[in-house]
Order: sequence, then structure tokens, then C-alpha cells
Amino acid sequence: MSFRGPRRVALVSVHTSPLAQPGTGDAGGMNVYVWQTAQRLARRGVEVEIFTRATSSSDAPIVEAAPGVTVRNVVAGPFEGLDKRDLPTQLCAFTASVLRAEAQQRPGYYDLIHSHYWLSGQVGWLARDRWGVPLVHTAHTLAAVKNASLAAGDTAEPMLRVIGEQQVVDEADRLVANTATEAHELVSMYHADPARIDIVTPGADLDCYTPGSMEQARAELGLPSEATLLTFVGRIQPLKAPDVLLRAAAPLIERSRGGDRPVRVLIVGGPSGSGLETPSALVDLATQLGISDEVIFLSPQPSAKLAQVYRASDVVAVPSYSESFGLVAIEAQACGTPVIAADVGGLSVAVSSGRSGVLVNGHAIGDWTNALEKMIGSPDELAAMRRHARAHAENFSWEHTADALQESYSRAMASFAAAPGARVSPTGAARRASRRWRRRHRA
Ligand code: UDP
Repeated sequence: MSFRGPRRVALVSVHTSPLAQPGTGDAGGMNVYVWQTAQRLARRGVEVEIFTRATSSSDAPIVEAAPGVTVRNVVAGPFEGLDKRDLPTQLCAFTASVLRAEAQQRPGYYDLIHSHYWLSGQVGWLARDRWGVPLVHTAHTLAAVKNASLAAGDTAEPMLRVIGEQQVVDEADRLVANTATEAHELVSMYHADPARIDIVTPGADLDCYTPGSMEQARAELGLPSEATLLTFVGRIQPLKAPDVLLRAAAPLIERSRGGDRPVRVLIVGGPSGSGLETPSALVDLATQLGISDEVIFLSPQPSAKLAQVYRASDVVAVPSYSESFGLVAIEAQACGTPVIAADVGGLSVAVSSGRSGVLVNGHAIGDWTNALEKMIGSPDELAAMRRHARAHAENFSWEHTADALQESYSRAMASFAAAPGARVSPTGAARRASRRWRRRHRA
């Protein structure tokens, strides 16, 4: 059934602003996703208002961020120093501001709510009931998935988050999953109704991330022109496993010393998540491995500079333990750079193994060293991968993501209109999760 889409959408992104620089703290792929899709929806005539928590007293309450895209910086709790784990304490304050913002407009101001991450889903759930409009939810990451494949020593996500996610899965009118794998996880781990899931693949800005001269990129970034450069880009935390790249590259660095193509590792990003507790962990590891002179660290870079980072690299590594998609993998390939990635989650879709890069099973350091050595030791194969990388990345554009989101929105509005006021039937899984939590905490 075709149905008109929304004219005005409230996007909720509680814990991180689309205007923040990604690559450190809580700012990463979700910020890029929200910002890129909001702009594209706006260009199609959908007005987008993004609700996010103000994290500085200098944040203006309302920012006209792009034509048709307004960012509302909601005051909820202290501006700075509030840990993401403590954000549930501020959801009531945040939701109150969202409801007030709508009340100051005319009734029926927003046609649809799209919440990003479970904290926003909790806000969207209440606003949906209050406004009588459909709620579309994107999880971005799922605690149960993350907990099933934790890095050694990493902190598990609390059961309370799993319960919160479950409630949103039960309540949302439609769920947006990045890949078929994520859709399957929603069904198998959160008992989601498959008929309510839309698979919407994320993209990359294919105009910003384009192939270009490696030599020029290295000159601009001050990187060694003669080296073989293996690069990690992203938030530095155990889940992302940048240590796997350092450990796997160490023997290659050692063997290449004194040669005409010395191996170097480039790490771009800043501490995040449980990585904030040990911000010097990677620098210390490089020292321990005896490769500190061969590892270059760069702070988080804006997208134009990041494109130069990708162009400057021989290989980009994404060794994450879990990844709902992995935008870095697509961006690197869009710049013509082959990717070596862990064969987990969305990375299995983001990389075409053997053509645009290599997928490695597991995180055994020897396997990663061998796979890297094979890639950089076969210039012809690497050149072929460079050629295929851009073509593969072209399958993933934000335009395509925006198309698919609009379809999902239309479906949400159609089913909502067909059964006005109907509540989504709860699966009972939230109650089961609550019971499990209570049992655990009684023990
Ligand atoms: N990023 C950036 N500058 C940096 C490092 C990362 O802009 O220095 C962006 C990168 O372009 C990508 C996002 O952060 O779009 C990371 O997304 P990804 O899906 O790879 O990981 P996530 O942060 O979602 O876990």
C-alpha cells in the first residue's frame, strides 16, 4: 500500500549531537548517520527537527543547522561531565522539553518520530503516545549483541539497558535495522516481529570520500611518503580493537626495518567508552611492543581531512569485536583503499571479501598478521582491490539510505492510520527480561 510520507519529522538523538565531531567520546557513526540522512530528507522536502541534549552552556537552544534541518539543544542535566551510563536519570527532563517544544507549536506539528539508540527510543515512546504519531526506531547498537562478543577485559552493558532496549523494540511501530544480520538479531534476541522491521543500509558521502593521490595526501598530512601505511580510524575503545592492529602489525614493522618500504601504523581518533578509563593504553601498548617510533597518532579529523587519511593509507583496518555496520569501512573503500575487517555484524556486508578487501575470522593475532602480510606483500592483488573498492562502496550511498527511510516512514504512517490508537502488541519479552534481571539481583 502506498501512503504519503511525513512532512515534518522529530529525530531524537539524546546522547550525542549530529553537530559534534565524530571519532571520540560518544560521537561516532550515529552522529554521521543522523546528520547525513537529516540533510537528505530535508532536500526532499521533509522538515527535520533534531532533539539532542545540550552539552555546553554555549549551545544555542535552536540551531538552523542546514536548510530544512533544525537542531534543538535540550537542557537536561549538567552540560558537561554526565556519563552516558547516567543519562537514564535525565530522560524525564529531556522528554518534558520535547513535549513542551511540540506544545508551543500547533497540534499535530510532527507527523512522525524517528529515535536513534535506545535512550532516544524511550523518549520517542512517550512522545508517540502523547502526539498520536508513529515511532520509527533505529538501535544502532544492541547491548545483547555487544555482550555476546566482548573484548577481553571490556565492561558488559548492564541488564537495565537490555530491558530498556526491549521496551523500545516492543513499542516502536517500525524498527530500522542496518543489515539482515541485525534484523535477525532483533528477532532472535529481542523477539521483534519481523513484519515490523525494515532493512535500511547506511551509506557514505560519496562526493567527499573519493579516490585521490596517495602521494599528495601524505604530503598534506605530513606522513612518510615511502612507508606502507596501515590505518585504524574510529573511537578508541576495546570493542573497536585497535590493539589487534598494533599487535598484528608489530612483527611486520620489525621485519621491514631498514627496508625501502618500512611498515607504519596510523591511528586516528580519540578515547571513548571504556577506553576513557585508560586513555594512554594504545601509546603504552606501542611502547611495550617496541614500535612506538613507528606508530603515528592523530586526533579526530573532520571528513575532508579524513578522506586524505584514507587516500594516504595502503590498508584500513576495522578489527572490531562487534559492529552493527562500520561506516569507516565504506568511507575507506569509497576513497579506493582496501579494508581488512573482522568478519562480524555489518562488516561482512560492508567489505566484499577477496575483492575490495579481506574479512578475517576471529581476532587471533597470528591470523591478522598473516592476512595483513598477504595483502601488502601482493602489490598486484592490492592494486586490484583498490580498483574494486570504489565500485563496491558505490552500492552504499546516503541517497539510497534516505530513499529507504522514506519508505519505512510511509509504511509506519500507513499502519498507524489503518489502526489509529492501536498499541503495538507487546511480546512479553520486556517482562521476561525484567524477571531475569530481578532474579539476578536477588541472587
Ligand atoms: N570519524 C570522523 N573523524 C575521525 C574518526 C571517525 O569523522 O577522526 C567518523 C567516520 O567518518 C565515521 C564515524 O566517525 O563516519 C565512525 O563510524 P563507524 O560506523 O565506523 O563506527 P561507530 O562510531 O559508529 O562505532
